[in-house]
Amino acid sequence: MKHSRRQFMASSALLGLFAPWQSVLGQQFNTPWRNWSGGQVCQPAGRFSPASEDDLSSFLRSTAGEIRPVGSGHSFSALVPTDGHLVIIDQLRGLLNHDAELMQATFAAGTRLGDMGSPLARVGQAMLNLPDIDRQTLAGATATATHGTGIAFTCLSGFVTSLRLVTPGGEVIDVSPTSDADLFNAARVSLGALGIVTQMTLQNRTPYKLKAKNWVQPIEEVLETFDESAAKHRHFEMFPLTHSDYALTLAIDETDEDINNPPPSPEDEAAFGEAMAFWATLPPKERLPQINALAEQIEPTEAVDESHKILSNIRNGRFNEMEYSVPLEAGADCLREILRTIIDKEIDVVFPLEYRYVKRDDTWLSMSAGHEDHAAISIHRMAGEDYRPYFDLIEPIFWKYGGRPHWGKVHSLGKVQLEQLYPKFRDFQALRAELDPAGRMLNPHLKKIFLG
Ligand SMILES: Cc1cc2nc3c(=O)[nH]c(=O)nc-3n(C[C@H](O)[C@H](O)[C@H](O)COP(=O)(O)OP(=O)(O)OC[C@H]3O[C@@H](n4cnc5c(N)ncnc54)[C@H](O)[C@@H]3O)c2cc1C
Repeated sequence: MKHSRRQFMASSALLGLFAPWQSVLGQQFNTPWRNWSGGQVCQPAGRFSPASEDDLSSFLRSTAGEIRPVGSGHSFSALVPTDGHLVIIDQLRGLLNHDAELMQATFAAGTRLGDMGSPLARVGQAMLNLPDIDRQTLAGATATATHGTGIAFTCLSGFVTSLRLVTPGGEVIDVSPTSDADLFNAARVSLGALGIVTQMTLQNRTPYKLKAKNWVQPIEEVLETFDESAAKHRHFEMFPLTHSDYALTLAIDETDEDINNPPPSPEDEAAFGEAMAFWATLPPKERLPQINALAEQIEPTEAVDESHKILSNIRNGRFNEMEYSVPLEAGADCLREILRTIIDKEIDVVFPLEYRYVKRDDTWLSMSAGHEDHAAISIHRMAGEDYRPYFDLIEPIFWKYGGRPHWGKVHSLGKVQLEQLYPKFRDFQALRAELDPAGRMLNPHLKKIFLG
């Protein structure tokens, strides 16, 4: 028997009136949730997408059970998966207001970073920095201390001047350094464990253009002068090729030059992809001369555009990632040991690493929290490949150099180790327990982090 659209809607609404049916249907028919890489999957009991703060507050007041806020699902670690309810704030998005004098702007927290550049430009502002991609939400990115590149720039959470939090009990709190400095420093990097952030105000600046220069250089040469290069350029980083002596190097500086940002040539991209596919067919110990020979042929490129169009990239190939931040002075040795281990252990990986500096900040849980600037080092594996043997082998090298794991990327640490790494970890745990005594925001991954 066929149903008209109207009959179907009517029967769905009727079923919705019966709570028992709702939960049974939720279990049976809810589609699974997956993160960007496909490495994290869950079957939530339901999804809730509030249309307003009131809506969100009533939901939290009138329900019990586990909840996890989700942004755009670009974290590789298991921060989001739940068999309770996912809270999706993608209806809370857009520029809410701005202050032309202070150069600050308030965005609804579900706004994607890539949707902030144009509205900001219209009010004469631009973000200070952006990460490698801009598909993350503002709330999701700051919850994990997402950062870009540059010794003069903290992670994005360091640009937050105030925020609004709806607690697990449904109370709406405006948080700023003057209203409650402790909560402010905890909630700017919250791992989604303190409540649900609905809006954030950011420190910005006047719009500016950037010029990006990419070239290939021997890794050792780049490392020898890395500190000088990082001080000289607004942004400076490198992507060391595995089983090679070379790195792709990137420097970005402010410019008044005319915009000239041609899209990457599909032929060049295809040629690089084919080369990587070819390297992968070679036994790892035979790769070094082949990769060095190809690296030497890569031509330098330049591009000029508005800041937000230069700082972030489009990453089409899916992968999984582990990133640790180590104190600046340990960065080069840590990177060298990882690259040497990849060669010595003949690890079959062609994905380049990433090496960049991030400025310290005063949040409680950012990877650069405290008195030292940090070097962030990332390793990757294509999605679909088993990343565990490679990541398991490299992770202890990060520990040896005092590394702190990126909250949004794969790591294996729990409460005991994290308490050693963060002077304010216990303060965060106490605040979390106060705001969420029933622990409804703790999924298994967060229980391991906060309860052990
Ligand atoms: C291709 C790619 C490139 C990346 N590049 C970088 C990079 O350059 N630098 C870097 O540091 N990281 C980078 N990351 C990591 C990424 O920025 C972080 O994992 C980020 O947290 C993802 O944001 P999201 O919006 O997808 O949030 P999700 O992954 O969905 O969630 C992240 C956390 O935020 C919490 N959360 C979400 N919404 C709210 C809310 N409203 N209130 C409270 N908590 C909330 C979630 O509960 C979770 O704990 C990259 C990731 C990918 C896939």
